[in-house]
Amino acid sequence: MKTAKIILYHEPTVQEIQLTEMQKFITDMFPVEIELRKNFFESSDEKIYEEIANARIFDLKKQFSRHTPSIKDIHLEKENRDLSGEETMPLYDGFELQRTIAKFIPTDEKTDNVLHVIFTNKTTCTFDDNDFRYHARALIGSNPTIISTTGILEAPAKPKQYYLDLVTCFSKESAEEIRGKYKGEFLEPHDSRLHKIAEGYLLQCIMYYETGEAFCEDRECRLFNAHWQKDLFYSQIEKRKFCKKHSKIIDELKDQV
Ligand SMILES: [Zn+2]
Repeated sequence: MKTAKIILYHEPTVQEIQLTEMQKFITDMFPVEIELRKNFFESSDEKIYEEIANARIFDLKKQFSRHTPSIKDIHLEKENRDLSGEETMPLYDGFELQRTIAKFIPTDEKTDNVLHVIFTNKTTCTFDDNDFRYHARALIGSNPTIISTTGILEAPAKPKQYYLDLVTCFSKESAEEIRGKYKGEFLEPHDSRLHKIAEGYLLQCIMYYETGEAFCEDRECRLFNAHWQKDLFYSQIEKRKFCKKHSKIIDELKDQV
């Protein structure tokens, strides 16, 4: 493996994701050192908050362009509030946020054998040239990697009928009722299943960094690129296995130390 060390950065608003367990999970599987760190965005360098606010998306139907953030936006970055489930959640251009994070990684840690994985509650999105709009993403790969906890909640689709029911309801109360009707069928903020699902995204990020391919086409594999939440539950919670091809690749990686 080219990776000798992985640094995992904690997201304090999502306690369901336990980094010490994550550390054990990865070191049981790969011959790498894991270091755990506090929230990447909790910094004494005030400049980081302005730069991060700069990565916000202002128009969902246009390619990213920078805006000058307001003082309030910068202040919100510093607060790091739990915004999952709120309608006014700011959205970030995933690649712009990744570039910004890279700027604040110390030079001596910017080497190929150190992989930085940032867990964050910020919602990362990428612009799709096919339909000319932004889509939420759980994972922004490469180094640094971003695993967005709200991206995990928002990117893989919920049951189709849930959306259809929502379209035909006109009050906040009935929207809540509909949510209740589908309880358990999709992830909600602070869902206990988040940890295992985040493990799957961490595996995908390691595989992407090592092999250039993050995802698998096989639903039976933990590297399956789930577009539906039910598929996430299946491959990350029910099965928790790799397909033959990826088991072999993982074994080969372990030997290349
Ligand atoms: Zn596979």
